Amino acid sequence: MRIVFLGAPGSGKGTQATNVKAALAIAHISTGDLLREQVRAHTALGRQAKAVMEAGKLVSDALVLGMLEARLAEADTAAGFILDGYPRNLVQAAALDALLARIEQPLDLVVLIDVPNELIVTRLAGRAAEEGRQDDTPETVRARLQIYAEQTAPVIEFYRRGNRLVVVDGVGDMAAVSARILAALRIL
Ligand code: ADP
Repeated sequence: MRIVFLGAPGSGKGTQATNVKAALAIAHISTGDLLREQVRAHTALGRQAKAVMEAGKLVSDALVLGMLEARLAEADTAAGFILDGYPRNLVQAAALDALLARIEQPLDLVVLIDVPNELIVTRLAGRAAEEGRQDDTPETVRARLQIYAEQTAPVIEFYRRGNRLVVVDGVGDMAAVSARILAALRIL
């Protein structure tokens, strides 16, 4: 099964992708994690991405697409995958459709993990305190939420129009949200 998880920063996409990946035995591809690996490894890509990520902005579409294409060529994606953090704008959504058509692995479904904005802000403040992620400072969080509203929200409409979207309530404990996602996926 090939799935995209959409949701604001702090919506629980990463955690849910980890749970669902285990339940379905498919790969979990987080572009945020892949980028953080590049930064840690001081690669050319990582050097270009670091400052952009720390400012809460989007890394260039071309860089992220190249990285994603390489990841999708790895063997563990053959059984399917969950994309977490991609696409984040309409250009990426179109590029993803083109790439997946080319490799003959079209998406089955897009899951939006829906969490109200007030709760997102509270959760991100909590995560900043717990994990100390470089991009969880209040200014960066504001920038990431603004980019989400301006650039990623239109992606939701793109998939809704294409009849590929299911919306799952992301409020509640992690296990309850996972159960809702798995229930939504079983309609396939
Ligand atoms: P969150 O879900 O909290 O936004 P991620 O780990 O998904 O965090 O992403 C962290 C950062 O990595 C983003 O703010 C952005 O700078 C960069 N990034 C991740 N995915 C993409 C993408 N698809 N396009 C551009 N930049 C990305």
